Amino acid sequence: MSILAILKSRALAGMEAQEVSVEVHLANGLPAFTIVGLADTEVKEAKDRVRAAIQNGGFDFPAQRITVNLAPADLPKESGRFDLPIALGILAASKQIPSRRLHQYEFAGELSLSGELRPIRGALAMSLATRRDGGCLAFILPMANADEAALVANAAIYPAATLLDVCRHFAGKSVDNMLSRHEAMPVVVPQEYPDFADVKGQTFVKRALEVAAAGSHSVLMVGPPGTGKTMLASRFAGLLPEMSDDEALESAAVQSLAGNFRIGQWKHRPFRAPHHTSSGPALVGGGSVPRPGEISLAHRGVLFLDELPEFNRHVLDVLREPMESGRITISRAARQADFPADFQLIAAMNPCPCGYFGHGGVVCRCTPDIMLRYQSRISGPLLDRIDIQIEVAAVPPDILAAPAHGESSAVIAARVQAAASLQLERQGKRNQYLTPREIDHYCKLDRISKSTLKHSMESFHWSGRAYHRILRVARTIADIAKSERIQEHHLSEAVQYRRALLTD
Ligand SMILES: [Zn+2]
Repeated sequence: MSILAILKSRALAGMEAQEVSVEVHLANGLPAFTIVGLADTEVKEAKDRVRAAIQNGGFDFPAQRITVNLAPADLPKESGRFDLPIALGILAASKQIPSRRLHQYEFAGELSLSGELRPIRGALAMSLATRRDGGCLAFILPMANADEAALVANAAIYPAATLLDVCRHFAGKSVDNMLSRHEAMPVVVPQEYPDFADVKGQTFVKRALEVAAAGSHSVLMVGPPGTGKTMLASRFAGLLPEMSDDEALESAAVQSLAGNFRIGQWKHRPFRAPHHTSSGPALVGGGSVPRPGEISLAHRGVLFLDELPEFNRHVLDVLREPMESGRITISRAARQADFPADFQLIAAMNPCPCGYFGHGGVVCRCTPDIMLRYQSRISGPLLDRIDIQIEVAAVPPDILAAPAHGESSAVIAARVQAAASLQLERQGKRNQYLTPREIDHYCKLDRISKSTLKHSMESFHWSGRAYHRILRVARTIADIAKSERIQEHHLSEAVQYRRALLTD
């Protein structure tokens, strides 16, 4: 007769953390250890770790026929996370630990050969999934994953350092041996950013970045090298409005899936700046067990793409979907994984291959043909989705020589925060997320503004999509000015923010 123990765990598929049941059978016969449901390449390592951890914990590894079944079979399963439930299942089935309370918990954790619990990725996604499924189960997982898993309100998280600690918890001889519940709530550590006060000149660009930060609009900066595009972008994150609890939780869950979670970064909007040589999967996500890419790690924060035309054109075109939907679907063989990717795109590029078109000081030798070809590496449909497109000119030498005297980031950030709060109070979302129907309602224009916009639409051949984007940006400019209505100068400013490229 076979003896059975069943424990609960979870596998990761994108942001989903579906329930997995770990069933351990012991039967008499020749000693054997079989794991069903893991990829073949992972089975041997999992068996080695579990066997060593059990023996090094001072338990007996049963000399019986052991069969472990991970169900359902069709989920992508990475072996490490199931070490803990497999080991506990073997100990319970062989009566070395009591099994009566095991069903009250979910388990995850990779074991070292000596029985220590090593961190797993996606602990926060697991804890969120348990809450979503209406589960009241407690969670036993590695110490290093406790902070992230406990971010979910009311989650019952019991971190453990070793397999032995978990066994003592279930042996239940003394309360002193029980694991204690992890309840620490994170503190927001203020983050230091470089300051806009250090940037000389560039008043127009700073203003455009303020508008972008306030309404969550995407930006393309076009200008020669050395004009401070990167310097401006690196200061941009310091302007962004604070994150809501839900935004922070979503952002943390993605970091956790990538194994990047740091409690000290709680409520810091991510700023990701991948290099243009990054591979497609690194940028958009991928892998045999799909993992989030840079665009997802930038969720609820900033994705900064410097030297935009140097990125693989196919990869740039993939950005169009998440820029509309805030999500990305990764398909790999028969599997699909869905990740959030609601990022604010800040991009920078030179105006031409040599970089010096319009510089004034240095002569550009690019022909109009070469220039057009360079700029058209950014496809029209992608460009169409970038709300603010501005030129960044070289700073005149007299301004460079004078001391910097611009506004500090703190002063600008205060205006951004006020404008962002106004948007949330009025419509429950930032202006960037207004639907066409909501634009009709919240972005009404007076007669003069209407004709200004109509005129610009015609002379610049703007699409309907550009029309909506200009109105959203104009709404943000009015919000910074605390103006209930969009006035003509708000609209004209928004129109100015869409005139950087030849291809426009
Ligand atoms: Zn040039």
